[in-house]
Amino acid sequence: MIRKIAVLTSGGDAPGMNAAIRAVVRRAIYEGLDVYGIKHGYDGLLDQEFMPMELGSVGGIIHRGGTFLYTARCERFLQPSFRLQAAENLKQEDIDGLVVIGGDGSFAGAASLQKETGINVVGVPATIDNDIAGTDRTIGFDTAVDNVLECINKLRDTAMSHERIFLIEVMGRKSGAIALESGLAGGAESILIPEIPFSLSDICGKLMKCFYRGKRHSIIVVAEGAGSVQILSSQIREKTGLETKVVVLGYLQRGGTPNGTDRLLGSRLGAKAVEMLIQGHSGRFASIQNDLLTECDLTYPQHHRKTIDFATYELADILSL
Ligand code: ADP
Repeated sequence: MIRKIAVLTSGGDAPGMNAAIRAVVRRAIYEGLDVYGIKHGYDGLLDQEFMPMELGSVGGIIHRGGTFLYTARCERFLQPSFRLQAAENLKQEDIDGLVVIGGDGSFAGAASLQKETGINVVGVPATIDNDIAGTDRTIGFDTAVDNVLECINKLRDTAMSHERIFLIEVMGRKSGAIALESGLAGGAESILIPEIPFSLSDICGKLMKCFYRGKRHSIIVVAEGAGSVQILSSQIREKTGLETKVVVLGYLQRGGTPNGTDRLLGSRLGAKAVEMLIQGHSGRFASIQNDLLTECDLTYPQHHRKTIDFATYELADILSL
């Protein structure tokens, strides 16, 4: 029977992580469990940065971005000997369940910890990239899309007034999810993502078509992994003679107050993770599919690649004619 659990956040921060921590802590206390927060992800697990949590410990955090437990990337955790040490640290405190809130890297570490040491581990998917197979959405993605949209709206004013082409680079080295959703919702003329090859002549052809029908500004949303936005900008300028500007949004996309969707998702998935631990569903993560809470094996994202929604991509292309 589970009596004491701990929660940590790991990898890149994502808005809504605090809502998930709050849900873990309060659901656990509601169930009569003791609960600890671990600071600095797996680093804190190895360095025993354990804090006992009470109901009030997670007060006033649901609306805050980032993670109040701090997060980190931890090289040591890649080695089995350190994962054994992590399990020893948990056992020393009589902690018999761990909730890991993070992305697919954090899940890989959580899966190994569970398999090698028998510690009960459950994951909560949180990353702005929405690139975890087995869940339709990850905590933080929706807010990141909103953040990008806010920037697109502002940049469109200048693009229109000065009749310029703006290339906006958004996060996503391997996944075009943010680019796709923010591009469609922001009315971008082109969306470039790593999953789908693009042709420079097609992009320029489209720009010129717009130009001749009197629309002399355009927004092109480029996912990081689709190619160098600077090179692309020069190539477009050279080929079309139109003025181009580059804006790299970077970390601006990741911060800020989580929106309603991410607070709800964090709350639902965090509470679900505690239920899973109580039910003995270890080595799994809480997920959402077709708007229903469910669960999935922690190793699933390592073996399955999440694909983007091609229908959405096609629709964005059609609507930007
Ligand atoms: P995210 O969880 O956001 O994908 P990372 O990929 O940086 O972020 O992973 C976060 C941490 O998870 C890493 O610093 C490391 O401690 C741990 N981790 C990542 N991959 C593995 C792995 N294959 N085995 C063990 N631990 C891992």
